Amino acid sequence: MVDLQNFINGQFQAPLDGTYLENRNPATRESLGAVPDSKAEDIERAVTAAQAAFPAWSATSPEQRAGWLHKIANSIEANLEEFAALESQDQGKPISVARTVDIPRVVANFRFFAGAILHEASESHHRPGSINYTYRKPIGVAGLISPWNLPLYLLTWKIAPALATGNTAVCKPSEWTSLTAFRLSQIMADIDLPPGVCNLVFGTGPHAGAALTGHPDVPLISFTGGTATAQAIMSASAPHFKKLSLELGGKNPALIFDDADLDRHLPTLVRASFANQGEICLCNSRIYVQRALYAEFVERFVAAVRLLKVGDPSDPLTQIGALVSEPHWQKVRRYVALAKELGATVHCGGDVPELQPPFDRGFFLNPCVFTGLEDSCPVIQEEIFGPVVTISPFDNESEVIQRANNVRYGLAASVWTQDLSRAHRVAQALQSGIVWVNTWMNRDLRTPFGGMKASGMGREGGHYSLDFYSETQNICIEF
Ligand code: NAD
Repeated sequence: MVDLQNFINGQFQAPLDGTYLENRNPATRESLGAVPDSKAEDIERAVTAAQAAFPAWSATSPEQRAGWLHKIANSIEANLEEFAALESQDQGKPISVARTVDIPRVVANFRFFAGAILHEASESHHRPGSINYTYRKPIGVAGLISPWNLPLYLLTWKIAPALATGNTAVCKPSEWTSLTAFRLSQIMADIDLPPGVCNLVFGTGPHAGAALTGHPDVPLISFTGGTATAQAIMSASAPHFKKLSLELGGKNPALIFDDADLDRHLPTLVRASFANQGEICLCNSRIYVQRALYAEFVERFVAAVRLLKVGDPSDPLTQIGALVSEPHWQKVRRYVALAKELGATVHCGGDVPELQPPFDRGFFLNPCVFTGLEDSCPVIQEEIFGPVVTISPFDNESEVIQRANNVRYGLAASVWTQDLSRAHRVAQALQSGIVWVNTWMNRDLRTPFGGMKASGMGREGGHYSLDFYSETQNICIEF
């Protein structure tokens, strides 16, 4: 059990009003300790500390900042097993996912931006008698708000570029999954990161989150989370003209053509649907299969899904852990009930598995596959963000493109075909910030990451992050 404290100005501090939230292990409902329920006055302290640290931090050289990021990365890597265990207990994810995906990526985030800042170059534009050059400078205090599904992975995807570019930060991790962010703050304290450079304030969205997004001295907000929350953040930011990066929800289609190489790709398609209990913003939730392959696909896919091992997240063989919280578990179950009411065929799952104590009290759900639903129904239109996928047949390319695009989201899509021309044609026609062809979640951190439509605004990754976390200035000199 760990009772967390805020990390402000290099010091661990209780929330000023002394209130806490209970943190529970979603696999057992056992208490993991308390999380500060911070309020505006805690955010105020953190912003003041970050402002005070800004002049000195922004004046450090890229080499110095890269050095700090490498120190953080090395310390996390040295404690990878501990971080993985904490992430699994706090979020419900299988330990194998925390160990091989979440925490290695946390280390990679710091190392990537430590390298990126050393290789940053800016443009210059020459004409007779004058030269323009682009100067990028740090902005100030960055407000960084992250969700619960990939807790430290997504938070550090923001912290690393924010600090690399010379900003200071106030972070507000999800109240459901704050443990590894707290452990990160201990590492920052251990390595003596200058006080105030990175502050972590724990608490809920309406209290701590809203205080951060509405704060007049936080000129930049990077937010990953739900689309409805982003609307509130945009409104709170508008009076202050804040720079915003919004990474939001998805309802990601997989388009499987009848020439797809199922022997090779079936395991990836199963992972793409159910990794992390389907609680990855990039997971497939709508699978469209060309009619000639449809029956075979459903049979083989469902057979593979039935083999997924659900249960104790700390068991290295577990593939599906617990959903993050009771409210989220209930939400996903309501969609399962709705699909049944709408007459869907349930091929597998959707029920609560029978597990041995203490896991019989956890928020588990067997991975669920539906067919027979209309595209217009809420189960196919709305983000469920759990282990639930629908499969629908299609006849031709233009039809499936239209159906894939026919949702409000546009985050990620995948196309499965051996026809190269079709792969390009379809990928370019999809309204999706990211399209994978014959692969899924194959990430190169240099690429632009972000969504179209209600899935987000702006791109992060590589120089897109360096641009976002900097103010770009053009300087023109006549000679
Ligand atoms: P959420 O929007 O409920 O919460 C995200 C964060 O915002 C939390 O830290 C929360 O405390 C905070 N927050 C809530 N209300 C706020 C407010 N009014 N002002 C400021 N902050 C506030 O999302 P969630 O349930 O934690 O995460 C799931 C969502 O995140 C899904 O929609 C998922 O698709 C999305 N997501 C998107 C990406 C991406 O890269 N596009 C990645 C992961 C998750």
